[in-house]
Amino acid sequence: MEIMQHWLDKRAALSPDDTAIEHPMNGSITFKQLRDQAQSFSRKVAQLGVMPGDAIAIYSNNSIDMVTAIHGLSYIGAVVVLLNTRLSNQEIVYQLTDSNVSFVLTGDDLYENGVEIAQSRQCEVQSFEQVSRLDEKQLSLKKEIALEDTYTIIYTSGTTGFPKGVQHTFGNHWWSAISSALNLGLDPRDKWLASLPLFHVGGFSILMKSVIYGMPVYLLDHFDADKVHQGIVENGVTIVSVVSVMLDRLIDRLGEQTYPEAFKCMLLGGGPAPKVLLEKAKACLVPVYQTYGMTETSSQIVTLSPSDALRKLGSAGKPLFPAQLKIVNQDSVITNDEIGEIFVKGPMVTPGYYQNDEANSKSFHNGWLATGDLGYLDNEGFLYVVDRRKDLIISGGENIYPAEIENVLLGMSGIVEAGVVGKDDEKWGQVPVAFVVKNENSLHESAVIAYCLEKLAKYKTPKHIYFLDALPRNASNKLVRHKLVDLLYKEEE
Ligand code: ATP
Ligand code: MG
Repeated sequence: MEIMQHWLDKRAALSPDDTAIEHPMNGSITFKQLRDQAQSFSRKVAQLGVMPGDAIAIYSNNSIDMVTAIHGLSYIGAVVVLLNTRLSNQEIVYQLTDSNVSFVLTGDDLYENGVEIAQSRQCEVQSFEQVSRLDEKQLSLKKEIALEDTYTIIYTSGTTGFPKGVQHTFGNHWWSAISSALNLGLDPRDKWLASLPLFHVGGFSILMKSVIYGMPVYLLDHFDADKVHQGIVENGVTIVSVVSVMLDRLIDRLGEQTYPEAFKCMLLGGGPAPKVLLEKAKACLVPVYQTYGMTETSSQIVTLSPSDALRKLGSAGKPLFPAQLKIVNQDSVITNDEIGEIFVKGPMVTPGYYQNDEANSKSFHNGWLATGDLGYLDNEGFLYVVDRRKDLIISGGENIYPAEIENVLLGMSGIVEAGVVGKDDEKWGQVPVAFVVKNENSLHESAVIAYCLEKLAKYKTPKHIYFLDALPRNASNKLVRHKLVDLLYKEEE
């Protein structure tokens, strides 16, 4: 069993006075202060009966209290279940039940709703503020971390079906942080901005990096283009984790300016990156590292290094040093340029979904994770993610990838969002149809189809264009294509 000194103790011993968290509104705290707060928090929740191995949910938006609670629970050895605050109560209750949560800790502003949720699951609930008023229980805190122990359970976004509870060990988070550092390099001036929610693995991983690297996190309550811009331009932020919508808004905010020289990169992940956006970033000299990853891989597992960023625009890059990747089609590994399912392996990959034998046996094969994503490797080994396997459209025997068509649609002026799905068709089996959100009233179906015909083979051109005010998205703001399919058949009723 691999054992380490507790990370936060170690960090507080190495660089006690360095900044751990910088919050533009609430000031900064050092690693020593963070350790003291986290330890005090753990002694207080212990009063409530929290025991090693208990699953404790955190229901909070980004805050220093939330960071304290995340570290605090590790001193007891409890498993932290991170809840997405944008989920409906029903969805949250499902997750609490699924992961056997006994206690819910909430941000102060979410306490009332927390009570409601906890009632239906009959577990207890306390806000951070309530915990702070408790007395400290005398107990010996964990001084060491076993890398094989589970630290967190984070649910997948539920884009393709029901969210699945992904277990992460300390080792998964450790290797995720180390792998990223081997790719990006460590610089003593680095300051990583977290505006992604900490309840997603992409946000959470920044906290682990902070403690392991000794690097300050510039913490925002939520994404705000002005505040992120200010963080970079005035407050020395060097790295920002973003999803594509955020990057788009930041580039708009940047306007004619450029970022300071010390700014290292936008780490872009979470979903497909529209080509138009990558081109736009390139034109504005914004350094973007495209990444591919998922909850199951504890954040990024494949990253495009800056030296290749422009040459391989659109690629997600190569697997990080400790990770492996292969493309599989009908049980055999395929090579250059052929599309198949992406399989990954590495020490940052989850040991499995929590108590979900069905999903585990579907997804894990001899130590490899079948991601459910389709992609290919070019002749230099760069990964191109094509689409989700479940969303593949087969029309007259030809494979059609909705993302390719969506990318084309997004390149048309007047279209701001696009979603493509297959519709049953007597002649072809399926044909692609598109749902779009427009910002130009005069845009008509015929013009959109004509545009697509210029850019795409005929069989890939959507047969119908449906205009919507907004596309169905989940609590992670991801397009939920199966809801578009539902709409299709509703329209016909
Ligand atoms: P669920 O697994 O519940 O359906 P989800 O897969 O959306 O939800 P996440 O773990 O949040 O849950 O997202 C990971 C997925 O996001 C990947 O499997 C992939 O489909 C998509 N993704 C991530 N990075 C990229 C990328 N660079 N290009 C294309 N897709 C990406
Ligand atoms: Mg998934």
